[in-house]
Amino acid sequence: MKIAKEILEGRALTPEKALDLLVNPSYDTMDLVHEAYQLRKHYYGHKVKLNMILNAKSGICPEDCGYCGQSREMKEKQRYALISEDEITEGARVAAENEIGTYCIVMSGRGPSDKEIDHITSSVERIKAAHPQLKVCACLGLTNETQAEKLKAAGVDRYNHNLNTSENYHHEVVTTHTYEDRVNTIEIMKQNNISPCSGVICGMGESNQDIVDMAFALKEIDADSIPVNFLHPIKGTKFGSMDQLTPTRCLRILALFRLVNPTKEIRIAGGREVNLRSLQATALMVANSIFVGDYLITGGQPNQLDYEMIQDMGYEIDYGTACESEVLS
Ligand code: SF4
Repeated sequence: MKIAKEILEGRALTPEKALDLLVNPSYDTMDLVHEAYQLRKHYYGHKVKLNMILNAKSGICPEDCGYCGQSREMKEKQRYALISEDEITEGARVAAENEIGTYCIVMSGRGPSDKEIDHITSSVERIKAAHPQLKVCACLGLTNETQAEKLKAAGVDRYNHNLNTSENYHHEVVTTHTYEDRVNTIEIMKQNNISPCSGVICGMGESNQDIVDMAFALKEIDADSIPVNFLHPIKGTKFGSMDQLTPTRCLRILALFRLVNPTKEIRIAGGREVNLRSLQATALMVANSIFVGDYLITGGQPNQLDYEMIQDMGYEIDYGTACESEVLS
């Protein structure tokens, strides 16, 4: 295979070729990883970006996302209203202490109220004053133009809003908002010079073609940062007993996302530990970014294991540069 070489020479992968690479067993998984690694090394060397999530508001959500333990179907799960500004800023202090490049403030719900936006922006102003090197990503749901302007003015660097799945499969995942709603929020952020972060969740029953479509949709949207989640099934959710993924399948998916989006920050996100298992380090040959610590309502592995993994691979932490190359303004 000379796929990476061709991509570096400007010949982008076609959707047809991408599908073939994903499904054709004559392409060995480690050969695909090797091709993806050429691109990862070319654009990011041996650097790893670290991100940390704060779940600032949990549960109490009217939406019906089939993968989510905070949806309206999951009333017994952990739930709390928006936490205080002090707690949000304290989380940033912990992130800065742990060499985190990007601190991600996440809220459950369809989208923030104006009062919640004011609470978040005030917190972000405090964070930026105390830790100017720390990039801040907000993940607050569907937003409007005015809210985006306020987030930008407060210093929010990045906004996460995942496509989650393909346009074709979206109706199987959620019925209370549309694929277009999601795309619109990402476009609003781009228009306000906030770096767009958008990714997917694999393993929810989607087809191989859906996975290819997701990778190309993110290319089309021009997401700077692409979190690739692997479903960690939560009992009681629509996909609570889904079991589609193997560690090598996850590697093939990650390699595909890198080959389609060679220059982008590709993050191994939720479900990393349970789905990749002993191949987490191999996955870092493709991805250049991980979350450290816990996810929204599922636990991650102890931080120390992540730092050891990075060190064992001879990689180094890339702090403080999380959004610089991608800023749109
Ligand atoms: S993913 Fe977000 S919008 Fe969907 S149910 Fe969960 S908290 Fe609500």
